[in-house]
Amino acid sequence: MNNAAIYPPPTAPAANVFGNVPGYEGIAAGGGGYLPPPMPMVPVAPPQPGPAPDNWSIPSLSEDVAREAFKSYVSSQCCYSSGPANNGVITSMESINTYRYRLETFTESRSTDWANKPLEGERADFYTQPAPQPWEIPVTPPSLFTNHTEEIRVPFTSTIKECHSCHATGTMSCQECHGEGHKPCLVCNGSGMKGDESCTPCNATGKERCKICAAKGTMECQTCKGKRQLLNYIKLKVEWTNHVEDHMVEQNSGLNIDDIRSVSGKELFKNSHYLVYPLLGFPNLAISEASERLVKEHQSKYGQSSRILQQRQTVELIPITKVNYKWEGSSHVYFVYGNERKVSANNYPATCCCVVQ
Ligand SMILES: [Zn+2]
Ligand SMILES: [Zn+2]
Ligand SMILES: [Zn+2]
Repeated sequence: MNNAAIYPPPTAPAANVFGNVPGYEGIAAGGGGYLPPPMPMVPVAPPQPGPAPDNWSIPSLSEDVAREAFKSYVSSQCCYSSGPANNGVITSMESINTYRYRLETFTESRSTDWANKPLEGERADFYTQPAPQPWEIPVTPPSLFTNHTEEIRVPFTSTIKECHSCHATGTMSCQECHGEGHKPCLVCNGSGMKGDESCTPCNATGKERCKICAAKGTMECQTCKGKRQLLNYIKLKVEWTNHVEDHMVEQNSGLNIDDIRSVSGKELFKNSHYLVYPLLGFPNLAISEASERLVKEHQSKYGQSSRILQQRQTVELIPITKVNYKWEGSSHVYFVYGNERKVSANNYPATCCCVVQ
């Protein structure tokens, strides 16, 4: 094996050297960028029947639980008086539950680009063997559905070159003192005189020693960390991304749909597969439609530029209780929703702006 260092002139683009690495032609043009996976993706999951809706009910909230949730909500609002929460009389409660469909698509994408690092004993292995193709390089994925990034030096693409930043000297001019080794004295502004007398802190020199470079005027080169040579190579960046998309079924209760997004519900159905099949048989039509649309969108959107490793779909039943109550002769409404029993109460009848306690 010939380990002689390759020294292209510092300014020569490395692309000239690497332009013909099979599988990496794209970055010869100076770009880098994402690489489509070699195989087209086709759904392999067989059609699945929808889950059976046995026992999908959520026990309805008791009045006590609804009132407690309301009280603690009101006490957390700085300008809500506690009167309506403590003394309001619940007249009726309705369960208006809704569904959330969630699709997660876990993908791996790969991109390449030029990179260099200070030479620390590595050998130039460029073309001692053909470089492996970007999608052939083995990587260890993180656990499913978690985001992660890894950078890998592609084997057999490394060359050694002189550092272009310092022209292989290992040092660069100190930026603090612009290579002077000293700066103008702050006390006398560089004049050496303070009024009619000579400046004491600088001994009348007008100069202050540069502490950053210990008065040398030079410092270690930032690019090569003083090593004078760089290892130049193709870097493979592998990114694992979990793409999550929700569909909330509209329930027309008056509760804002964005409020509901933040809470959790009762999990009715969950499956994961390399590629999931839409929940066509699901008893709720809106869920079936959302599933069909999102599965199709994700598989075409993410299957092109990345490799889909796994998909997961979840259906949750989100409990929503609409509570009607009377306070001081008029009727009002609040909602208790989610496993967290969050409360929403628009037009709360007693804020401190309008009620004297
Ligand atoms: Zn001075
Ligand atoms: Zn300096
Ligand atoms: Zn350098």
